[in-house]
Amino acid sequence: MEDAHHGPSNLVLLGPPGAGKGTVAELLVTRLDVPHISSGDMFRAAIRAGTGLGREVAATIKRGELVSDQVTVAVIRERLAAKDAAGGYLLDGFPRTIAQAEALQALSKVSAVINLDVSDDLAVLRISGRRVCTADREIYHLANRPPHVAGVCDRCGGPLIQRDDDRPAAVRHRLQVYHRLTTPLVEFYARRALLLGVDGSLPAIQVRDQILAHLPTRGARPLAAGA
Ligand code: ADP
Repeated sequence: MEDAHHGPSNLVLLGPPGAGKGTVAELLVTRLDVPHISSGDMFRAAIRAGTGLGREVAATIKRGELVSDQVTVAVIRERLAAKDAAGGYLLDGFPRTIAQAEALQALSKVSAVINLDVSDDLAVLRISGRRVCTADREIYHLANRPPHVAGVCDRCGGPLIQRDDDRPAAVRHRLQVYHRLTTPLVEFYARRALLLGVDGSLPAIQVRDQILAHLPTRGARPLAAGA
């Protein structure tokens, strides 16, 4: 959203798989007037739709490896060029490498980067319990946010599944990849004075509120006018 004093809210969510990026992003965009842009969701949508991109990335994602910077940056460049991102965006899952962060710097002026900090143990615990609705993509957790009826989406009645890359072997690999390739971004953004660290082990609503309280953009829409 445009802010007369601070310009658009160009936000990035950083954090390991299981940090709660997707959940917190959904909570944030109901209060900030910007689109939630998740590279992982875009890839999964392409896989479901059977597009050329989907066929290109499916095996890589299933193994828990990163899609190439070239392909990922091209997808995000196109997405950020869409009308709804002109007044700001909330990026979730991008950038994930220094090369991607540099590409983003060239594309757009990032206003803040939120680092959701969680331990590997908590990340594994959260991911192993994560279930996703195949119909409306709503996210559940067997312990933290169980559906009312096991295996069935509360919102739409669709079947809940475990993502292929949420299986234990792929999860351990994703965390290794995160520490090797994505952790350096914390330093990258800290040096540019853009980093906001948040304890990602807190309940999602509290994480959201801490972020809203600290955003440089005062981007929160008054509750009465918002969702
Ligand atoms: P998580 O954050 O839980 O790992 P995502 O939904 O963000 O899940 O990403 C799922 C997968 O999609 C990643 O493991 C990776 O293969 C691919 N992916 C998503 N974003 C990127 C990115 N920025 N660069 C490379 N690969 C990506």
